[in-house]
Amino acid sequence: MRFALLLAAVLAPSGSSLAESAPNPGWIAPLEVRDARLHLLDEVRSGPPQAHPEPAYHFLDEVLATLAVPAARWPGRVRPFVVGQTLESRPIWGFVLRDPARAVSTRMGVFANLHAMEWVGTEAALAFALDFAAHPTPGVEVVVVPIVNVDARRRVEEDLRAGRRVYRRGNRARVDLNRDFAVHHDATSFWRHLFPGFHASSPAPLSQPETRALDRLARKAGFDLAVSLHAFGALVCTPWSGVWARPPDWRRLHALGTALSSGQGARAYRVVQLSRWGFFFRAQGSEIDHLYGRYGTAAFLVECTRTGIEPLHPSTWTDPFRRYNPRNPSHDVREVARLLRAGVVALATGGPVRVAPPAPGPPEARRERPKGPIVEDDPIGRSRE
Ligand SMILES: [Zn+2]
Repeated sequence: MRFALLLAAVLAPSGSSLAESAPNPGWIAPLEVRDARLHLLDEVRSGPPQAHPEPAYHFLDEVLATLAVPAARWPGRVRPFVVGQTLESRPIWGFVLRDPARAVSTRMGVFANLHAMEWVGTEAALAFALDFAAHPTPGVEVVVVPIVNVDARRRVEEDLRAGRRVYRRGNRARVDLNRDFAVHHDATSFWRHLFPGFHASSPAPLSQPETRALDRLARKAGFDLAVSLHAFGALVCTPWSGVWARPPDWRRLHALGTALSSGQGARAYRVVQLSRWGFFFRAQGSEIDHLYGRYGTAAFLVECTRTGIEPLHPSTWTDPFRRYNPRNPSHDVREVARLLRAGVVALATGGPVRVAPPAPGPPEARRERPKGPIVEDDPIGRSRE
């Protein structure tokens, strides 16, 4: 019944189409968004959601069906598009959100579920997207990719339906997508000899279609701010993740990370440079080093929730799904959605938060300017030259 209502809402005449979204006067060239609404409907129609374990979470079909409703109601505000294809040729869906009546001056990216079991981030991205669609902040465009690792996410859904509590992290080729980006892909720390497991990376930079899709999006979008949602730990992590050194923009990144966590109110997440989480730990080839090091984006990895393990419920102690995803995530989702809203406020009130190019460093840390028209007609972009 719920699904039928959703579908009815999606199929109802909306009075306008994606192509009619308000003209962009050229502050930031619009992202190229193909008319993906019909394809999204195909995906939503492909199988009505059924009752499933973990009822506090949306399965992938439900995530898409939920976002299809505001996409149909406000075509100019919510535009679905296909970011790219997975290894198994499934679409990776993205959603461009903005106030179509106003020029876009800054752009924020929100990614979730790069790691297969970290669903709480998807829930937060979904809640944030619905809130932003209902109340868009003029001048700020948000691109939400709620589920990046689609193939492995499907596998986790199958596991849950079958009652299997199996640990999964990488994509269908079992590659850890957040060790597959190009900047700081290869370990250099002395500690790699003693703790190789904490310095592992994929066979080659951008070796997987999912990471290449995110890289293409980042290149085109030139995000001012990006937040990638993971679990667990209650942390706001700044670059670098792959080397111990402070990044050139360390103070600015830390201040902005603090602004994000401050939006959470009481019990705000702690801000830490990811490589300094532990002296023996580095994340080689992470999305935040790539987004910051290659595209100059102020990028943050947020470890959502303090964990779903419940001390008084032994069944949760060894449950890999529960480790990342509390039984009832509503509190965590609200906390992270507030953090993301704080990012929007920072963009809207503080001007561009795109960081300055770093001082000369190792070749992999030198950033490429985004290609294409995104900054050509952008006075902010010019001011950065
Ligand atoms: Zn993760």
